[in-house]
Amino acid sequence: MDLTALTALELGQAIRRGEVSPTEAVRQAMERIRREQSDNHTYITVTEELALEQAKRLEQHLPDRPLAGVPAGLKDNLCTAHLPTTCASRMLAEFVSPYDATVVERFAASGGILLGKHNMDEFAMGSTGETSWFGTVKNPWDKTRTAGGSSAGSAASVASGTCWYALASDTGGSIRQPAAHCGVTGMKPTYGTVSRYGLIAHASSLDQIGPIARTAEDCAAVLDVLRGQDPKDGTTVPVTGPSLLEQLTGTLDGVRIGLPVELLDKVEEGVRRGVLETAEVLKARGAVVEKCTLPLVQETVAAYYILSSAQASSNLARYDGVKYGWRDQTATNANQLYARSRSQGFGAEVRRRILMGTFVLSAGHYDAWYRRALETQEQVKQVWNELLQRYDLLLTPVTPGAAPKLGHYGDNPLAMYLDDVFTVGVNLTGLPAIAFPCAPDAEGHPLGVQLIGRAMEDGVVLNGAHCVQQETAYHLRRPEKGEVK
Ligand code: GLN
Repeated sequence: MDLTALTALELGQAIRRGEVSPTEAVRQAMERIRREQSDNHTYITVTEELALEQAKRLEQHLPDRPLAGVPAGLKDNLCTAHLPTTCASRMLAEFVSPYDATVVERFAASGGILLGKHNMDEFAMGSTGETSWFGTVKNPWDKTRTAGGSSAGSAASVASGTCWYALASDTGGSIRQPAAHCGVTGMKPTYGTVSRYGLIAHASSLDQIGPIARTAEDCAAVLDVLRGQDPKDGTTVPVTGPSLLEQLTGTLDGVRIGLPVELLDKVEEGVRRGVLETAEVLKARGAVVEKCTLPLVQETVAAYYILSSAQASSNLARYDGVKYGWRDQTATNANQLYARSRSQGFGAEVRRRILMGTFVLSAGHYDAWYRRALETQEQVKQVWNELLQRYDLLLTPVTPGAAPKLGHYGDNPLAMYLDDVFTVGVNLTGLPAIAFPCAPDAEGHPLGVQLIGRAMEDGVVLNGAHCVQQETAYHLRRPEKGEVK
């Protein structure tokens, strides 16, 4: 039986019933990883021995949890004791964290088996999976295209069946955008519901950890494991009420959904069709879908890049060649050591963000850039929250089109930043959002749509996607040979 064809929950169920063993699941995943890794870099570290040991241990004692025994991967910015955590950077290529991230502890306690650490854009900066020190991640549907980013390895791995789900991070779309490009489902939870302790920071007020999996149901099950207040992260909030899995009622009766129509002028025809078709499915399941207007769309991108770069420049100041990571050996004084270690250890995109962030925070430019971006963020929060008083959910595109060709953005980072227009608003506002597959484009490349909800209403968001997935089969398409014409 091909276990990689199962969803995470299906595999969990088969394991609990004793129909398959965790060892068999690990074995099949490893076979695929070996095949896949020969021409793609979805994993930075593969932990075969450890995974087999964990599988054996779980065969002795299986926790009574839906995902016990199901193997998964972690984005390589989540700290793991005893294993490298590289952030796909030369700076941290040799770094081993002295502790596990809170989500890693929770993952282990739920009976998760770790297959390895997924490749990503360096320090989670980028939208293409091309900025990794360890090599580019390619899209498993079409190896001439990007897998999206920054959680490129995570999304590509779920799509190609080299894990059943992944834990990733989303600062401005890094879970949702690669999920859309790889034809899988990815959820960015409400800010504060999942602990960031042990997540290597990109922009602390925007970063949030979440799942990438095949279905909304799988995402709910993973988030049920991850969510909850953590004394080690002061920005976490208590999570109460029924589990997310229990909130997947399968009905949308009385749910009001806003569709910001002017966004559809900014996307390729396939995406437009996908959004409109998804709206029809949601209606068929009982929702009321209404056209609405989402103001300040362009401004969200500008505010996001100013605020995220500012926070990144501050967060990355700790990599100085002294305390952590890459150290230049030729320096003869402290200034040289800092300058050389940082310019050798960081790649071009990371250096660009540090320069941009330092600039907008500098005394002479703070008011013109950083303060104005903060003001814009407040305005965005206000208009989004007003809109979400009228609607329970918003339905939008995730990306302007299918995954771009590798090298598409060349040396035009601004063009890459502007393509984040549909994802960054969710991070500025802290709201929950899910990206999931809709009808593919004319050539078969996956496309995604996004549902955004109110803060703490992650269950409503997941249920919206779940209802669509009960009616359609786009989320079950696999990039096996011949799928993309
Ligand atoms: N593409 C965005 C950026 O480069 C998002 C990154 C992320 O969510 N980590 O900043």
